[in-house]
Amino acid sequence: MFDKVLIANRGEIALRIHRACREMGIRTVAVHSEIDANAMHVRLADESVCIGPAPASQSYLNIPAIVSAAEITGADAIHPGYGFLSENARFAEIVEEHGIAFIGPSSAHIRLMGDKLAARAKAVELGLPVVPGSPGAVNTAEEASAIAQGIGYPVLLKAAAGGGGRGITLVRSAAEITDAFRRTQREAEAGFGDGSLYVEKFLERPRHIEIQVAGDKHGNAVHVGERDCSVQRRHQKVVEESPSPALNEAQRAEIGEKVAVAMRKLGYSSVGTVEFLYEDGAFYFIEMNTRLQVEHPVTEMVTGIDLVREQIRLAAGAPLSFTQDEVRFNGHAIECRITAENARTFAPSPGTILTYHAPGGLGVRVDSALYAGYRVPPTYDSLIAKLIVHGRNRNECMMRLRRALGEFVIDGIETTIPLHLELLANQDFANGDYDVKWLERLLDAPA
Ligand code: ADP
Ligand code: ADP
Ligand code: MG
Repeated sequence: MFDKVLIANRGEIALRIHRACREMGIRTVAVHSEIDANAMHVRLADESVCIGPAPASQSYLNIPAIVSAAEITGADAIHPGYGFLSENARFAEIVEEHGIAFIGPSSAHIRLMGDKLAARAKAVELGLPVVPGSPGAVNTAEEASAIAQGIGYPVLLKAAAGGGGRGITLVRSAAEITDAFRRTQREAEAGFGDGSLYVEKFLERPRHIEIQVAGDKHGNAVHVGERDCSVQRRHQKVVEESPSPALNEAQRAEIGEKVAVAMRKLGYSSVGTVEFLYEDGAFYFIEMNTRLQVEHPVTEMVTGIDLVREQIRLAAGAPLSFTQDEVRFNGHAIECRITAENARTFAPSPGTILTYHAPGGLGVRVDSALYAGYRVPPTYDSLIAKLIVHGRNRNECMMRLRRALGEFVIDGIETTIPLHLELLANQDFANGDYDVKWLERLLDAPA
């Protein structure tokens, strides 16, 4: 096992990784930008290294600075967390070239799945159903138009290198496609350094249901159940839960087994997530995330499996610590992503936290790097806390979540806690009756 892990991230996920390391007796190295010198992840780690100024391009994305920090401190592994360098295949290679273990899958698998077009083709080869769309990249607006004509409007134009909900454009009719193509291509070039686009049929009312997987370097791979992440705004997840209110046990086992078989064929070794859209009883692969996900605690709460610990063990070459049969699903868990934003307008609300009080009690988990006096910088992702609640069933979980949200005090800045309270009071949500556009319809509706 590793002696010392460098955590190439910040915020709640850096803390989450630190906690797993600490329990495993592994020492930790935090890296931080200049404005993060007083951040909680720096305070908790055994050692810390400043890797550059505030902009992520000069710090959390600064590969030479991060690798140097690992060499100077003698770290034998690097955990990338999510976002930042977590899906950068070149980073994984460079880390390994320096004789340091990368806590994630092989760089080949990161590269494959990072190209959403290549990932689609691979999914087909592995026997997973995909959303109807172009067989490869579309190079011109005319080509996109011809494909769209064939599969029928509306369609989505998607950037092959996209992520984080960006690089996706809805096209309702042939009249819009030329403009949409140029715009999306420009955005993809500017945002991801790669203007490749493809066309996918736009599903009108799908749910987003994803399967958590784990595989080792000895040919074993299992699924760890699903998460329903259909409560979204602008293609970004806001609430996640497991199990999905839309699936029964047989459907869960069927899609889970299909994905586990695919991962064995792929030889995937690490934790990861295979994302699907689900509509009218059918699953459609959309992409695979070759990293730890923001919403991984939901799965941890219903299975009792520490996914970060497992991920670290797998990177060190250990076999999976559990078999498929040993994965048991208990009760229900829901996660609320709390961001430093106005709950109505979503205007960013950075600033200093005056009072901080996290909820507690049975079944309540808070993953956050906040503390009273901490200044939330305007520079990074607005996620400041995840509240994850477990109950024996969905109803108990919702009651407990309502109670926990009511206890949560984050004063000094605006947060999306009021939005989460509103969602919990909503009858559709209570019924589990929602799709990926549900929240946007709710927010657009006159108050
Ligand atoms: P998850 O499926 O884990 O919820 P998200 O899509 O929410 O993943 O992304 C996790 C984090 O990584 C978010 O902070 C998001 O903004 C960031 N992220 C993901 N992909 C990219 C990307 N291609 N470029 C920049 N940031 C990204
Ligand atoms: P990202 O890499 O940004 O996470 P995804 O391909 O995973 O992008 O899609 C993000 C979200 O966009 C999905 O969860 C879903 O809400 C929506 N979406 C993606 N593809 C489609 C589609 N073909 N039809 C309808 N909605 C889609
Ligand atoms: Mg996605």
